[in-house]
Amino acid sequence: WEGKAVLPQEGSFIKLLPDKRIEVPHNPIIPFIEGDGIGPEIAPAMILVVNRAVEKAYGGSRLIYWVELLAGDKAEALTGKRMPEETLEVLKEAVVSIKGPLGTPVGKGGKSLNAILRQSMDFYSAIRPVYWLGQPAPIPEPHRVNVTVFRENSDDVYMGIEYMPGSQDTQKVRKFFLEEMGVSPYALPEDCGITVKPMSEYKTKRHVRKALRYALEKGLKVVAVVGKGNIMKATEGAFMNWAFEVAKEPEFEGRVITEGEPKDGQVLLTRVITDQMLMQLVLKPEAYHVIITQNLNGDYISDLAAALVGGPGFVPSGNIGDGYALFESTHGTAYDIAGKNIANPLSLTLSGAMMLEYLGWKEAAQLIYDAVKKAIEDRLGTPDIAKGFEKMGVEAKALSTMEFAQAIAERI
Ligand code: NAD
Repeated sequence: WEGKAVLPQEGSFIKLLPDKRIEVPHNPIIPFIEGDGIGPEIAPAMILVVNRAVEKAYGGSRLIYWVELLAGDKAEALTGKRMPEETLEVLKEAVVSIKGPLGTPVGKGGKSLNAILRQSMDFYSAIRPVYWLGQPAPIPEPHRVNVTVFRENSDDVYMGIEYMPGSQDTQKVRKFFLEEMGVSPYALPEDCGITVKPMSEYKTKRHVRKALRYALEKGLKVVAVVGKGNIMKATEGAFMNWAFEVAKEPEFEGRVITEGEPKDGQVLLTRVITDQMLMQLVLKPEAYHVIITQNLNGDYISDLAAALVGGPGFVPSGNIGDGYALFESTHGTAYDIAGKNIANPLSLTLSGAMMLEYLGWKEAAQLIYDAVKKAIEDRLGTPDIAKGFEKMGVEAKALSTMEFAQAIAERI
């Protein structure tokens, strides 16, 4: 590490156009952050597979110029800072990037690095496509799961407006509610803590538009807007109503319907209460193709959906704003297995494929999906995958992280 990110001479930055679309050169500079824990093992595995897919799809006429940026443990060791300013600057300049997991040290001060990153470029939608590629899964028919969760990323209880039980601030806020707003002391007892749940029309609508465009572009038919609007009328209820207002905007006229059967080129927008959706995902997962939801519900729903197909190790994720995009693995740093070369690289590798799709390099992305399927069909995988097959009475070969990545690359 030379103390500065080394920008490749030959590559070019992706351009963000005034209408917030991206213009991708044939030689884009794409930054990656290895991440903590297993990050240094899974990041090279992802790069190997993505490079192979790009080479195979475009025969050398397109090439990614990767540039490493520092964050987390490695950044702290080399620069004394967990999130150097340079990292945020280059991420912004490059528009599209990818990262491994970053740890949040427990008990030490400082904001979560993931929160800093997500807010830095206003990545307001977290998108998690959940599908099954043949891996061991806890339900008998995981092929029925094929749903993309759109989790709002910039509103809700995650904004950290909180008043701790017993604090003076809580007493102030409580007094205001009791004396000026007529709230009963039963609802706000003296020893309560208070978390504020803001939800805004602007933030909701931009998120919903992104999800509807995604569904239309991919030909996904049934889009559910999910929340507990019956209980939290001012927030989740408003969110659900705003979603239906978006459906009436001229851009979606005739293309987003709210009743009846969607024809080709149409999507059906429907409303489902959160608890009902959690149940439906297990009982009738094929009924929904896109789920649009808020920050907290999105957290629960995407983890349940991921669990159905085998866990977060198999599910990719993209944080997307107005053009800016940061793709990442969905699991954490897995410190317990770090350095052993046994981490499953699929979440980050599939995030790499999702990034290629975002660049419009769909052929290369498809090669990755097909190759991962083939490798799993051949009963190859990291120990977590091999163990899953063993439990099912199926023989499988346990490979190291890099061997598994190579096995995937060979099948491209
Ligand atoms: P974790 O996902 O790191 O680990 C949970 C369990 O799953 C562990 O047993 C681990 O070994 C296993 N596991 C996770 N990923 C795996 C993989 N790719 N292959 C094989 N096994 C895998 O969750 P945690 O322990 O709750 O979190 C550890 C740290 O990661 C925390 O500091 C947390 O804040 C951070 N984290 C970061 C992100 C992110 O960067 N987006 C997401 C979640 C957690």
